[in-house]
Amino acid sequence: MDSTYINEIRRQFPILNQQVYGKPLVYLDNAATTQKPLCVIDRERDYYLHENCNIHRGVHYLSQMATEAYENARRTVAAFIHAAAPHDIVFTRGTTESLNLLASSLGQLLIEENDKVLISAMEHHSNLVPWQQMLRQKKGQLLVCPMDDNGVLDLQRYETLLDEKPRIVSIAHISNTLGTINPIKEMIGMAHKHGIPVIVDGAQSIAHHYIDVQSLDCDFFVFSGHKMYAPMGIGGLYGKSDWLEKMPPYQFGGEMVDQVSFEATTFNKLPFKFEAGTPNVGAALGLESAVRFIESLDRNQIEAYESALLQRAVEQLSEIEGLRFIGQAAKRSGLVSFVIDGIHPYDLGTIIDKMGVAVRTGHHCAEPVMTRFGIPGTVRASFALYNTMEEVDVFVKAVKKAAAMLR
Ligand code: PLP
Repeated sequence: MDSTYINEIRRQFPILNQQVYGKPLVYLDNAATTQKPLCVIDRERDYYLHENCNIHRGVHYLSQMATEAYENARRTVAAFIHAAAPHDIVFTRGTTESLNLLASSLGQLLIEENDKVLISAMEHHSNLVPWQQMLRQKKGQLLVCPMDDNGVLDLQRYETLLDEKPRIVSIAHISNTLGTINPIKEMIGMAHKHGIPVIVDGAQSIAHHYIDVQSLDCDFFVFSGHKMYAPMGIGGLYGKSDWLEKMPPYQFGGEMVDQVSFEATTFNKLPFKFEAGTPNVGAALGLESAVRFIESLDRNQIEAYESALLQRAVEQLSEIEGLRFIGQAAKRSGLVSFVIDGIHPYDLGTIIDKMGVAVRTGHHCAEPVMTRFGIPGTVRASFALYNTMEEVDVFVKAVKKAAAMLR
């Protein structure tokens, strides 16, 4: 993709145009959070300048405007991931809250004493700890699908684990540590043959790949707005209506109720049953703008471009002596994780930071992955559509220089 197009995109992200420690900022921590384009920032600001009001409650003008805008945002997000209906989208604070909602509510519906839940060996803590804690209460068991040395899930083992009749499968679409793109459509099909519902953690995929929840046939898909150019504090949970109807509420309070007396309460319809209290309306409108921003781009081209950024980084990093990639699946998305012999990832990250390069170091909220590879952490560079080939070169040069200093 030509650099004029990328520069045009970059102009919409003013934060990228700054210096840190006197060096141009090279932001390669997009798997942690993406930067926000002006249209998203402006939308949230406009909301507070002209529309701010609590929703679903007031008969007055502002309240109706804000309600309409919020529900429009839901419609936009539903269409973006091809949900069957807007009420299949529950707004949450993000992936973590969506997964906690599921562990609590779907857990209550499906998990009885000694039951099992199946996850994979590459899950973010958000898709591990909620299940682990819920299962502890039920004396249940967490089953874990293993992966090989390249960071590829063992599908034969997955099949045998499905034979153990877990009640729920919950799997990352893309690993935030290894970049592996899991064959989720196939994995969903396999689980469904056993009658098991599947949750897809889409935190790392939604900004970079087309998502069609109906074609995937996942039962649930969860994501965070801030990883897809939207504000923090907003995200979503897609669920098939049949499941959402059957699931008990997650939190109680205003908005999620139908009728309340001291003796009993009936609950609101979908999706409000799962949206207790005042939501983050401004951020939801920002999320809608982020979706429109992504939709305005040629997404196939963007996908190919992000893959080219990754390839360039991998090629150049391979030249560094003692460097070992953590995660070498054939199907990978825009991030690269590595360690260098004798150098602590934290030291490397700290030195290249002073050269203006922002990467993530550590266990990336996936400690079992580090244990699996016998390392304390990795250096992770993750790419977004506004990164340039030149930035990749600056990053690799910085890594080479830092490695030479630390040896
Ligand atoms: N799942 C994956 C795969 C992630 O990469 C992340 C964040 O890095 C999360 C879950 C948690 O997302 P959040 O902190 O936005 O809730």
